[in-house]
Amino acid sequence: NLTLFWHRRDLRIHDNAGLFKALKQGKNVQPVFIFDTNILNKLPKNDQRVLFIYQTIKELSASYNKYGSSLWVFHGNPTQLIPELVKRHGVEKVFCNRDYEPAAIQRDKFIHEALQNLNCSFSGSKDQVIFEKDEVVKPDGNPYHVFTPYMRRWKEKLTDFYLKTYPVENYISNLNKGTELSIPDLEAFGFSDIQTQAFPPLRIPKSIIRDYHNTRDIPSLDGTSRLSVHLRFGTISIRELAKTARETNEKYFNELIWRDFYQMILFWYPKSMNHAFKAEYDRIEWEFDEVQFLAWCEGRTGYPLVDAGMRELNETGHMHNRIRMVVASFLCKHLLHDWRLGERYFAEKLLDFDLASNVGGWQWAAGSGVDAAPYFRIFNPTSQQEKFDPEFEYIKKWVPEFGTADYPKPIVEHKWARERVLERYKKALNTN
Ligand code: FAD
Repeated sequence: NLTLFWHRRDLRIHDNAGLFKALKQGKNVQPVFIFDTNILNKLPKNDQRVLFIYQTIKELSASYNKYGSSLWVFHGNPTQLIPELVKRHGVEKVFCNRDYEPAAIQRDKFIHEALQNLNCSFSGSKDQVIFEKDEVVKPDGNPYHVFTPYMRRWKEKLTDFYLKTYPVENYISNLNKGTELSIPDLEAFGFSDIQTQAFPPLRIPKSIIRDYHNTRDIPSLDGTSRLSVHLRFGTISIRELAKTARETNEKYFNELIWRDFYQMILFWYPKSMNHAFKAEYDRIEWEFDEVQFLAWCEGRTGYPLVDAGMRELNETGHMHNRIRMVVASFLCKHLLHDWRLGERYFAEKLLDFDLASNVGGWQWAAGSGVDAAPYFRIFNPTSQQEKFDPEFEYIKKWVPEFGTADYPKPIVEHKWARERVLERYKKALNTN
């Protein structure tokens, strides 16, 4: 009988916790990947993330071929396809790695129940984080809402055990050697207009990580690791990266803990994906002005650091973290637009879009999230530029017309916007 291993956001063989468990328990382990139509049907037909996954799947499939096995790749609805495969091949066990997004939890629950009726087990492993959902909690068992004590507890709990590599290679001969299925073409899914793009390289950049504390806030430098897309899709192992980070740079290590923190928050508070974490913030009366919102989306606000960030995002699918904070704050505070609009725009555009970190980042900027900056601390986009891009290097790269007559005038005046937002927030939060 076959055992299935279902790849989802863990697109690698090396140090893959769920794959290791599947292989260790027995023979004929068949790896599977599904291009999920529930997700694909909602995406534009030139979505770069689909191309990233597709290229990765081809590489993954070639790696399985080297071991004399193959990856079965399907296009469809996993809640139907997985039970169908189980029936067709008399599968008794399906393995995967856990995913903490609300929609994934629903999907997995449904599949779990369907497989129970077929006398097949369905088991998930922790793979994409170091500590998941309820592993780092307060002494009373409740989740932390503040990052610093969470991080302290996280570090206390960390031992070498949690960073150990799963030696998948030791059991690799337990892969199924049977039928090879051809990988469907991207065109078969309707994704034909995708331009090939160079994605951030898959490597651990030791020198960048070493200097991270000095370079991370300067958007014109190559000062961050650019590994977010690989962490998103699991082409890199978080354990391996965390090990290097622990040995090399505490500041970088802490950023990986933020990632665990937001995944944990989303697990406990799935509603926070579209509701303010602090409920009173949902009383804020947001503005909506299509012209202003479009100016923000397209990088035409007249605030050059904001515009450079939005243009970087639109052109590359990436934006530097410091600038994500600046543009998010600008939308919520200067334009007084609902953080959910910005969150959704980022979700469409970011190559590294990750629901937990994105919602976390946006609610932080709006002031409504766990451990967010106090609402009255309002980023001044001009002083942010003076501090983090004093020579306009980043700005000139993305906004070539900056400084010419073609560059727009500011769409809002800073002082006026600051007063407006303070008043509006105060009204909602009753803090007069
Ligand atoms: P590095 O600076 O090299 O950091 C290393 C890794 O640490 C990152 O790859 C990421 O996995 C993690 N990390 C770093 N900063 C954060 C953070 N603040 N929160 C959580 N994890 C972090 N990150 C995403 O991965 N997906 C998102 O959708 C996302 N949306 C964001 C939205 C807003 C409004 C803000 C302010 C931040 C968002 N971030 C998001 C966090 C951060 O901006 C990116 O992780 C980072 O810019 C990715 O670039 P890098 O890989 O070079 O990061």
